[in-house]
Amino acid sequence: MCKNMCKNTLEKMCLLEEGRAAGRKQEQMYGRVPAQCILPPHMLNEIAKKGNPKQRDMALKTLLMSEKIRGRREAFAEVYVAMSLGAKCTRVYDAKNGQDLPGEEVNDPENSSDPAVKEAHNGANATYDMYLNAFERNSIDDKGMCILSSVHFDEKYDNAFWDGRQMVYGDGDGELFNRFTISIDVIGHELTHGVTEYEAGLVYYDQPGALNESMSDVFGSLVKQRVLNQTAEEADWLIGEGLFTSKVKGKALRSMKEPGTAYDDPVLGKDPQSAHMRDYKRLPRREDSGGVHINSGIPNRAFCITAMEIGGHAWEKAGKIWYIALRDRLRYNSGFQAAANKTFQIAGVMFGTGSEEQNAVKKGWTEVGITPKAR
Ligand SMILES: [Zn+2]
Repeated sequence: MCKNMCKNTLEKMCLLEEGRAAGRKQEQMYGRVPAQCILPPHMLNEIAKKGNPKQRDMALKTLLMSEKIRGRREAFAEVYVAMSLGAKCTRVYDAKNGQDLPGEEVNDPENSSDPAVKEAHNGANATYDMYLNAFERNSIDDKGMCILSSVHFDEKYDNAFWDGRQMVYGDGDGELFNRFTISIDVIGHELTHGVTEYEAGLVYYDQPGALNESMSDVFGSLVKQRVLNQTAEEADWLIGEGLFTSKVKGKALRSMKEPGTAYDDPVLGKDPQSAHMRDYKRLPRREDSGGVHINSGIPNRAFCITAMEIGGHAWEKAGKIWYIALRDRLRYNSGFQAAANKTFQIAGVMFGTGSEEQNAVKKGWTEVGITPKAR
């Protein structure tokens, strides 16, 4: 019985209506569009199977919650439109452990004594600043859209997500997960899902979906590296460091440098990410939308190798190449080979054919089993 219930619940996971162009395209092709939650379904699935009763309840509750969120989006649309005009704008709301979004607006979040408020504020601002200063992009939609964040969503809610209009953060259950604002790269990751929606519109299935996930990891990590002023060599290339409590055997949700090595835990299972095309996992779409959080390890590693090869601050060159690909060259159905080709071609235009930078892009993709083509 539990098996049926879990399966049913997993299939419903994170299904949200999507109103944007990319979403509509995807909806026509595949039906409803999954929300882009930071905890991948394979992880919640493991907890639902192997956790203690409390942990299993938590996982099932998290899986079911996204269904409820769907109905609230219409009501929120008016608030969103009213706040979308102008230059830099970020706002933080306190859902006060309820399920109404966005919640009550927090005055002066920068000086708040609440760490979740402060982290959500700082993370949104750091993401906005990176997109503006490194890539000349004015917010998620490049039109100055206000970045709204709601913290303390529901009770002990184990996830963070971009719902197509705003960021939502749970407090975590405290047993396996800390509060979801704790990792700044998670904030950058989720907000980048918004950027991707407005630009390439990569569908959230199979290779385009894994590329969508990878773009979020790339720019999420760059937000963190930029805040810490780290070079590619100094960066940890981890996604979600600090999210696990000390009870979990693992350092983060994912490792871009060494995909598949981020955690190995009796309850969460082992990090299933692939690091090379020979380990690409062909999965049915009901499993993590065709393995979007698993195969994303491949382009993640290609970016990491490229950035390390170029050296210096990764957002200055490698990040710019990837950003232009995402903004101008990739389409909703682009896969890894297209990403390799486009980034290789862009590097040639930006830095010259046969330049160190272009060779670095080639090395990045070649080492994960993909040969970029100049045409
Ligand atoms: Zn994601």
